[in-house]
Amino acid sequence: MRTRGFWVLFVLGLICGVGCALPPPATGPDTLGETNEKTSVSGNYPPDGYLEALPPVPSKGYWLESLAEDVYFFSNGVYNNMFVVTSEGVVITDPIRGSGERLKQAIAEVTGQPVKYMIYSHSHLDHIGDAHLFQGPVKIIAHNETRRLLERYRDPDRLLPQISFCKTYKMDLGGVEFRLIYPGEGHGKGNIIIYLPGKRVLMFVDVATPKSVPFKNFSTVDIYGQVVGLKKALSLDFDIYVAGHLFRPGKKEEMREVLDYYYASRKANAEAMQRVPLRETLQNSPSKDIERKMGDYFQAVAEECYRILKKEWKPRLMGFEAFARGHCDTWTTFHRTHKTP
Ligand SMILES: [Zn+2]
Repeated sequence: MRTRGFWVLFVLGLICGVGCALPPPATGPDTLGETNEKTSVSGNYPPDGYLEALPPVPSKGYWLESLAEDVYFFSNGVYNNMFVVTSEGVVITDPIRGSGERLKQAIAEVTGQPVKYMIYSHSHLDHIGDAHLFQGPVKIIAHNETRRLLERYRDPDRLLPQISFCKTYKMDLGGVEFRLIYPGEGHGKGNIIIYLPGKRVLMFVDVATPKSVPFKNFSTVDIYGQVVGLKKALSLDFDIYVAGHLFRPGKKEEMREVLDYYYASRKANAEAMQRVPLRETLQNSPSKDIERKMGDYFQAVAEECYRILKKEWKPRLMGFEAFARGHCDTWTTFHRTHKTP
């Protein structure tokens, strides 16, 4: 049941990335940066690679875990969010579609305070589709681009924000500081970092799920912007983060590990493009259709890139077999249109 729900939610998650707002900081594509960290993992692992099996979901339908004093992690097993209890009311983040009532129940477990604010990480339906359940005196905060997208969608389930901002937004409620940061377009327009500096906790959705490769084709409209966003998040001082997916929060080093995968896949792709000769691959393709010939070339590059990555990353991150070739292909598109380092 949960497995079926997982895939349904993931498929719905494909309704992702449309549009963006601010351009990413003006650094060239060859300044993305790389870490020198190399952690090879060997030994036995399941046929699909690294696996962190989902523990049984509690009968109430969710997990609730404390991340720091008055900061809570809520998860339905696949999607997650964070809420904060203050002396002046509760601040919630994404009202996950299908889990809004359970989120209310979770809040009632720890406080009698009313929900005062709701912060959208971004506009995607799967993450904020139950916003309508919090209609009333709750004030909604989101990025300007998220507001613009929601105005266009006219979805009554995704209420429009009353407060929106461009680059950063700061709020203090009951002595808790909330810092909202827009690192530019990556996973669609308006996807923000929600940062609680005093709690050393951060939320950044759909970009780096702990111990997992990124979702299909990096689930992005701007791979460069996505790397810039991750670098911005990692420049902040935090210990633990909420990724939007997985049944548990992540550690800072787990976010860095996913960024390392971005770099490794980019490098492997550049290497594969050197190794797979374009002209010969086109000549050797049995098809007379040039588009099909190009398709064969892209596939050969992705296969070579996958082969380069496999030894190190399959035992390290979940989802490698499902998505690594797609990541390689995304980088091919990037490398064909940007300066290749
Ligand atoms: Zn999304």
